[in-house]
Amino acid sequence: MNQHMRPEPVPFIDIAAQRRRLGKSIDDAVARVLNHCQFINGPEVTALEAALAEFSGARHVVTCASGTDALLMVLMARNIGPGDAVLCPSFTFCATGEAVALTGATPVFVDVDESTFNMDTASLTRGVATARQRGLTPRAVIPVDLFGQAADHDAISAIAEAEGLFVLDDAAQGFGASYKGRKLGTLGLATATSFFPAKPLGCFGDGGAIFTDDDALADTLRSIRVHGQGSDKYDNVRLGLTGRLDTMQAAVLIEKLKIFEDEIAARNEVADRYSRGLGNVVTVPRLASGCTSVWAQYTIRLPKGIDRDGFAAALKAQGIPTAIYYTKSMHQQTAYRDYPVADGGLPASERLSDDVISLPMHAYLDEATQERVIQAVRSALQA
Ligand SMILES: *Cc1c(COP(=O)(O)O)cnc(C)c1O
Repeated sequence: MNQHMRPEPVPFIDIAAQRRRLGKSIDDAVARVLNHCQFINGPEVTALEAALAEFSGARHVVTCASGTDALLMVLMARNIGPGDAVLCPSFTFCATGEAVALTGATPVFVDVDESTFNMDTASLTRGVATARQRGLTPRAVIPVDLFGQAADHDAISAIAEAEGLFVLDDAAQGFGASYKGRKLGTLGLATATSFFPAKPLGCFGDGGAIFTDDDALADTLRSIRVHGQGSDKYDNVRLGLTGRLDTMQAAVLIEKLKIFEDEIAARNEVADRYSRGLGNVVTVPRLASGCTSVWAQYTIRLPKGIDRDGFAAALKAQGIPTAIYYTKSMHQQTAYRDYPVADGGLPASERLSDDVISLPMHAYLDEATQERVIQAVRSALQA
C-alpha cells in the first residue's frame, strides 16, 4: 500500500506522551531508588501512602502489589470464605468477581444501569435475596466505579446497611473521581484501586492500594501484606500474601500524582469534545448527578443494526484503534458461568456487552487528532 494512503495511527492510550512530559523528574526519582537500594519498604512507599491519604482524604492508605490483591486483601481481612456471598456487578473487569471466588466465597452477579454502566440497585436487592435463597450468607457488596465514574454510593450504602453487608469499593478505574463532593477512597468500609499502567493513575508495572478510615482493618491489611506477620516477625498470626508495592513503583507514582489533577481536567475536556462531536450519532456516556469521572475509558453504544466488528474495522483502516470493554460480562465467561446471578437475570449487562465500544482516551489527546477520531466514527456509521 502507498505510504500516503495509510493514515498515521492514533494511540489508544498515550503513555509515551506522559513519559515525555515527566521526563527527568521520573528519571531522578528512579535513580534515587537505585542509589539507596531499599527496593522493598523504601522511604518512597511511606511517602506515597501519605500523599495518597492527603489526595483522597482517607485516614489510612495501604499500598499493595495490584488492584486484584487490594480487593482480595480486604476480603481476607474480613474473613470472607466458603458459604459467604459477595454481590458484584457482572459488567466489569474479571478481577472484581475473581477476588471473591479466590477466597472460596460465592460471587453473586448483579445487573448494571444502562446509562451509567454502574451497579443497578434494584438488581442488588434482588441479588441479596437470591443469595439467601441459595443458602448463602450475604456479607459484602463490591460496587465498581466503571470506566472512571463513581457508582451510586448513597443508594448502595443504604441497601448494604439494611442487609448487613459491608461495602468494598472497586475504584480500580475510578480513583480520582468524586461522589457528591467526596473523593473515592472515603466511601464504604474500604476502597481498592489499581496502578496498572493503563489506569488513570498508573505506575510502570503492577501496583495497587487500599483506602480505609478503619484503624483495625488497616492494621490487619498491613499484616496480610507481609504473610500475616504479627508483632513478633517470626510468628505469623494469619494467612497473608507477598502483597507489597515495590519502592520503584512508589517513586514513579509520587511524581505522577503531582500532575494527576491536571490530567483529570484534561481527560474531562477530551470527554466533553467527544460528547459534543458524537452525541447526535451514538449513545455517549452519561454522568449521573453528583458524580464525576476520571474517564478511564470513553465508551459509546452503537445504534441498533450497526455491525460492531465492521465499525471497528472501518476505524482501524483510518488508523483509529478501539477496544471492547467488555464483550462478555462475567456471568457469560467460562470460569464464572456457574455462579448465581440476581433474580430476573442481567439483561442490561448482556445488551451492553453486545453494543459498547471504547474510543482512544487519554490526557494528551489533542484537538486535531480527536477530530480525526470523531470524523472516522461519523463516517463509519454512514457507510
Ligand atoms: C484493572 C482492574 C482491577 C484489577 O487491577 P490489577 O491491578 O490489574 O490487578 C480490578 N477491578 C477493575 C474494575 C479493574 O478495571
